[in-house]
Amino acid sequence: MTTPSRDHALVLGAGMAGLLAARVLAEAYDRVTIVDRDQLPDHAAQRRGVPQGWHVHALLARGLQAMEELFAGLTADLIAHGAPSGDVLGDACLHLGGHQLRRTHTGLTVISVSRPFLEQHVRQRVRALPGVSFAAPSDVVGLAATPDARRIVGAKILRRADGSAEETIDADLVVDATGRGSRTPLWLAALGYERPPEDRVPIDLGYTTRRYRLRPDALGGDLGTLHGPTPSCPRGGVLARLEGEEWMLTLFGLNGDHPPTQPDGFVEFARSMPFADIYQAIRLADPVDDPVAYRFPTSRRRRYERLTRFPEGLIVLGDGVCSFNPVYGQGISIAAIEALIVRDHMKRRRPPGTGQLRARLASVIRTPWNMAIAGDLAIPGVQGQRTPKVRAANSYLSRVLAAAADDTTVADAFVRVSGLVDPPSALLRPRVALRLLGHRRPALDAAAPAPGVLGQRPVDTRPEHTR
Ligand SMILES: Cc1cc2nc3c(=O)[nH]c(=O)nc-3n(C[C@H](O)[C@H](O)[C@H](O)COP(=O)(O)OP(=O)(O)OC[C@H]3O[C@@H](n4cnc5c(N)ncnc54)[C@H](O)[C@@H]3O)c2cc1C
Repeated sequence: MTTPSRDHALVLGAGMAGLLAARVLAEAYDRVTIVDRDQLPDHAAQRRGVPQGWHVHALLARGLQAMEELFAGLTADLIAHGAPSGDVLGDACLHLGGHQLRRTHTGLTVISVSRPFLEQHVRQRVRALPGVSFAAPSDVVGLAATPDARRIVGAKILRRADGSAEETIDADLVVDATGRGSRTPLWLAALGYERPPEDRVPIDLGYTTRRYRLRPDALGGDLGTLHGPTPSCPRGGVLARLEGEEWMLTLFGLNGDHPPTQPDGFVEFARSMPFADIYQAIRLADPVDDPVAYRFPTSRRRRYERLTRFPEGLIVLGDGVCSFNPVYGQGISIAAIEALIVRDHMKRRRPPGTGQLRARLASVIRTPWNMAIAGDLAIPGVQGQRTPKVRAANSYLSRVLAAAADDTTVADAFVRVSGLVDPPSALLRPRVALRLLGHRRPALDAAAPAPGVLGQRPVDTRPEHTR
């Protein structure tokens, strides 16, 4: 493999994964072009290419740390522009596994912002980088490859302007960050490569979101409250105070138990949940808009690292590789960690598109994916194999959450793991495990936006008949 030139990198998609990738590529390439089908606003606004932007987007503690590594001062900047912030457990209320976690100061920061606000601040920073430019609005319609298809040398785009014709933008590196709808598997097949194998977990998740005007102390001064689903109640929600003194309520349900968009039904759904704080806060409040829905049928992970043949000059990042159950709030954080991996890879002057890089990126995804699907598999009716390991881990987790309702050490350890700051094995350390022994509160339900697999082996989610 020859070391390619580092003149031009092309990023397909200006969502979070694309912007974060562009940040690190701008250090290694003379020019970086970012293509997106949307006209990208110069203010925080919803856009068609990111329909999930209408819904609550949490940023995990490790994700915020990674973004701060990429953009020094970003957290302070967001706060200065009106982002509410505080301590992950000191300033927010977490109801998980049927318990309310004991409040404590963890030292981990949370910022509570809308997706458009976060994306706008990141986009602004990327726009200011030397060598970076945007080609938007333009649709990416394919990849350009050498005649032997061994190397990707650009992408074919169609500008959204009257009379435009397909054109090819040449590049030394192409990064596909077009999200869940990424067409790289099809494009690879057209070039004679295998499509990546996929792991899928059907969850039939429905989100419905409405914004409200509430007093800043609507939750007793807290930034927000989170209700995780449990086996007996596969529903949940997040009520969060955002920038601009606005509140956003996202309700969700698994297995087809979707929150209605009809206003009374939406409030009733909030009332049906085991903890009353969300319902109490919104029942008499003024809504700002009508409820908006989003359907998420399946969590999906594409196993690019398993392909033995893959073209040089191509990297796939973000939701295009792994589209996590959004309830666990992992996607942006993983995109930020992936960008750090790509930065490290580039610094070592290794050629992009190598199996080694794909393996490293896959290893970043493995643990959060296992955490998420084990949590999903704790919900009856979600299809997938409940191995003894998954059952044992979920049983242990339910004890952790029961203890976390009373014990700040356990609660702190738990939020560090679910925030991807510590590995799941941290919950097995004596400091936590010994506290579970003496704890008497009954473990109720296991499922939660939480670590579910304490070991590192991936859970086999293939349908049983294909194994
Ligand atoms: C309902 C929901 C809620 C979520 N909540 C959270 C959360 O709380 N926390 C969290 O971290 N993550 C959350 N996520 C996931 C998060 O949105 C993504 O993981 C994150 O945005 C990274 O995605 P991405 O950049 O790969 O794709 P996206 O953000 O989807 O961006 C893809 C970009 O590519 C562009 N594009 C797509 N196709 C083309 C094309 N052919 N040509 C040109 N441009 C194209 C789109 O316009 C878009 O700008 C949620 C997802 C959903 C669905």
